[in-house]
Amino acid sequence: MKRTLVTGGAGFLGSHLCDALLNDGHEVICMDNFLTGSRDNVAHIQSDRFHLVEQDISQPFTVKGHLDYILNFASPASPVDYYAHPIETLKVGSLGTLNTLELARNKGAVFFMASTSEVYGDPLEHPQVESYWGHVNPIGPRSVYDEPKRFSEALTMAYHRAYETDTRIIRIFNTYGPRMAINDGRAIPNFMYQALTGQDLTVYGDGSQTRSFCYVSDLVDGIIRLLKSGHHDPVNIGNPVELSLLEMAEKILQVTGSRSKIVFKPLPEDDPKVRQPDISLARKVLGWEPKVELEEGLRSTLDYFRKSIDAHSAGP
Ligand code: UDP
Repeated sequence: MKRTLVTGGAGFLGSHLCDALLNDGHEVICMDNFLTGSRDNVAHIQSDRFHLVEQDISQPFTVKGHLDYILNFASPASPVDYYAHPIETLKVGSLGTLNTLELARNKGAVFFMASTSEVYGDPLEHPQVESYWGHVNPIGPRSVYDEPKRFSEALTMAYHRAYETDTRIIRIFNTYGPRMAINDGRAIPNFMYQALTGQDLTVYGDGSQTRSFCYVSDLVDGIIRLLKSGHHDPVNIGNPVELSLLEMAEKILQVTGSRSKIVFKPLPEDDPKVRQPDISLARKVLGWEPKVELEEGLRSTLDYFRKSIDAHSAGP
C-alpha cells in the first residue's frame, strides 16, 4: 500500500486530494495547522487508512515510518487570506517547503509541489506557457504569496538537481468547487454568497480583467496524472476557457436566478489583468484536459454553498 503525506490536507484542494488518494488505495496522512484549512473539509472521511495530524510545517517536523509520496499543498491561497497572514504565507512557502523537501529526501519519497499561476504575476505574455518567466512585483501586496511560490519552485528544482529527489511542480490556475470557504474573498464564493443572500455583487475595477476557472475534479485528475508521471519541469493545470470578471458575475446571477445588482469597487493593487493557461504540455505529457463545463461546475458549487449557508443559519 502506498503511504502518502498531504500537507494542507484540510484545505479546499488538499481535502479533495485526500479523497482521491484514499479512493486510489493509499494510506493518507493529512497534515494541517488549520490556519485557513478546516476540520469540516475532512469530517466525512471514515477510512482507517486516514490520519489527521495538526502541524505547522514551517516548524521542524517529521513523520514516523516510510513515505512514498509527499504532496505539498500547505499555504493560504486566496488574496484575502494571504493579505491577512503575510508572514505565515512567506514562512510556509519557504521554511515549510524546505522542511517538507528534507523529509522527502530522507524518506526517498516523491515530492509534489503545489505552485501557482501567480508565478507569472501580471503577465505580459498571453496565454501563459510554462517557459514564460513572469512579471512579478517583488514587494507588492501579492508578493507574500508569489515570491515564496517562486522560491518553492527554485528549491524543488535544486533538490532534484543536487540530490536527485524525484519531484513534480504543478502551476495551478484559478480553481473552484465545493469546500471553498464561502468567506475566503475570492470572486466565485463572494459572488455566490452575495447572489444567494440578496446583496450586490462586488465587481472590482471595471470587470474587464480576465481569469480562467477550472472545476476542482478536473484539477484533481491533473494532479494524480502528474504525480504518476515522471515529469520534473513545471506543468500548467487549468481550464483555458477565459472570461472577464463582469461576465462571471453575470453568469452567477443567471445560474442562481438572483435579482441582485452588480456594483463596481476599486481594483486591488497589482490585480493581474489577464490569466489563461496554455495547457499544450499537460495535453502532451499527461493526456489531460478539463471536462467539466463552467455552468455544470457552477451549479455543483452553488449546491454546496446553499447547504453551507443553510447549515450556518440553522445554528444556535
Ligand atoms: N474579484 C471581484 N470581486 C470580488 C472578488 C474578486 O471582482 O468580490 C476579482 C479580483 O479583483 C480578480 C478576480 O476577481 O480580478 C479573481 O480574484 P480571486 O480573488 O478569485 O483570485 P485571483 O485570481 O486574484 O488570485
